[in-house]
Amino acid sequence: MRKVLIAGNWKMHKTGMEAVEFVEAVRAQLLESDRVEALICPPSLYIAPMMAGVRGTPLQIGAQTMNEHNEGAYTGEISPLMLKDVHVEYVIIGHSERRQYYNETDESVNRKVLAAYNYGLTPIVCVGESLETREADETESFVNEQVARAFEGVEADDAKRAVIAYEPIWAIGTGKTATADDANAVCRSIRSKMEELFNEDVAQSVRIQYGGSVKPDNIEELLSKSDIDGALVGGASLEPQSFLQLVEAGHNR
Ligand code: PGA
Repeated sequence: MRKVLIAGNWKMHKTGMEAVEFVEAVRAQLLESDRVEALICPPSLYIAPMMAGVRGTPLQIGAQTMNEHNEGAYTGEISPLMLKDVHVEYVIIGHSERRQYYNETDESVNRKVLAAYNYGLTPIVCVGESLETREADETESFVNEQVARAFEGVEADDAKRAVIAYEPIWAIGTGKTATADDANAVCRSIRSKMEELFNEDVAQSVRIQYGGSVKPDNIEELLSKSDIDGALVGGASLEPQSFLQLVEAGHNR
């Protein structure tokens, strides 16, 4: 049974004080569970202090992006080495906002995925189609190509512990969600692609999240589907109560 992963992507939200308040509000309510993992990916500035605040609790702290180099003249960037240094395990790679606003491409996503594995980090690889691609009925081929490019050169043993987040771009922050059946169909197709790229063991082990306007009132239906193993959540991860409800839904799945 794959463990559900509820991951909050805070994007560029919250002050340091608000981040501390969030940790205080949720940490006592989260129970150790073998069914669900709870993760928050805050702005990089808050990773280390939040990491200290969650010590001894099941809440994990991850990163929203990283550079593929371990160090060097890359102004403003953070490296896999630095993430490892503060005990990060999960790093989101290739979020559609990174692809759209910061010119990340399938090639740079692939380099970052390889770098993440090189440092023992687990990438949450984001893929997803635009409304135009969906309307042209090309969603599965487009998304599967993104998956194939992201995992080029990755060993099966590494691919096994990957997380893939399927996030249709038109559903992010818009209040529009793919129907649970549509989301599941794409997640199932990604799983088949992983089988084709690697093997059945990898396909059955890899966790595939859905993302795009996930809220406490739609998470249960999404998680009831065969190939959806969690959610990558923006807006609804900012409030302690809604984040806790999402994790609870993962626990009850
Ligand atoms: P949203 O964002 O939940 O606010 O739609 C999801 C994401 O971008 O990961």
